[in-house]
Amino acid sequence: MHSPYEVAADDRALLLGGDDDDQHLEGNAMRIGFIGLGIMGRPMALNLLRGGHQLTVWARRPESMQPLLDAGASGAASPAALAEQAELVISMVADAPDVEQVMLGENGVASGGQSGLVAVDMSTIRPSAARSIAGRLLAGGIDFLDAPVSGGEVGAVAGTLSIMAGGSTAAFETAQPAFACIGRNIVHVGDSGAGQVAKAANQIVTGVGVLTVAEALNFAARSGVDPARVREALLGGFASSRILENHGQRMLDRNFKPGFKSWMHQKDMNIVMQSAHELGLCLPLAAATAQMFNAMVGSGLGEEDSIAILKLLERLSGGEG
Ligand code: NAP
Repeated sequence: MHSPYEVAADDRALLLGGDDDDQHLEGNAMRIGFIGLGIMGRPMALNLLRGGHQLTVWARRPESMQPLLDAGASGAASPAALAEQAELVISMVADAPDVEQVMLGENGVASGGQSGLVAVDMSTIRPSAARSIAGRLLAGGIDFLDAPVSGGEVGAVAGTLSIMAGGSTAAFETAQPAFACIGRNIVHVGDSGAGQVAKAANQIVTGVGVLTVAEALNFAARSGVDPARVREALLGGFASSRILENHGQRMLDRNFKPGFKSWMHQKDMNIVMQSAHELGLCLPLAAATAQMFNAMVGSGLGEEDSIAILKLLERLSGGEG
């Protein structure tokens, strides 16, 4: 059986067409550079290859690049080298300092990209950081979109991510042929930073959501009732949600393999709380959830999936966790 990360041999022949000269690119195919090939970036990059784009990749660890090279992508020696040949560069790294480094650091995209290049960061970072990076790239003639995603590893593999973009309409339109390969619900939310604001709002809903589902299932179990039957009952009523459906099932299976690492969700709740602080906003549920993710990292659960918040609740409730 093929791993979801493999491109079938037939697809590869079709993609490569025996000649990777960009003059032979067809239709909407673009020369795309992709940086950051982790849980999300790797399947997203593979879907760009499957979509017929000419793909060059860079990752700081060579082993992260190998599955993409095996599937037909070219490798670059640095983000600058990757940007030299590209019409569009996409990054999917971790946090704002990482995006700064690959875009604006030594041998970064800014030092190789031609004027007119569009750079898209799809990581989740602070809206203010996205605006700052956009301004500095624009000074070198590079248009920048913040375009974080929701949908998790499953959505990345299936090419059905929700994409929330902030930046110019021209850059958004340029990125469409790439977005079409990796996402399904693609929304131009507003100006620079607006995509990251939407993503922070998304993380309030999903962070609070995963905590409430864990609370409900732990409550059922500690009340001596089968949490699987409780989940089944709740799925038919107003308490139903995709979080109850998908994350709830994984909690029942005690499948804590990431997925979405807890330290990443902690990062995202910190983005939410920092924005709340700057704006003077009251976000009581997000604040409590942020504390729980702090405790997860402090308890050594940072590398486990965010649904391991169930383990923390169990420990706090006198259970084994
Ligand atoms: P991940 O598996 O840890 O992958 C992150 C990748 O970025 C790694 O391959 C890492 O390289 C690379 N990277 C990080 N910092 C870098 C730097 N300074 N220079 C070069 N490469 C760097 O994380 P992920 O789950 O794919 O998440 C990526 C982003 O998507 C995060 O912003 C996250 O919040 C967001 N996101 C994740 C999910 C999800 O369900 N996982 C869903 C939506 C959004 P190495 O391989 O060398 O470590």
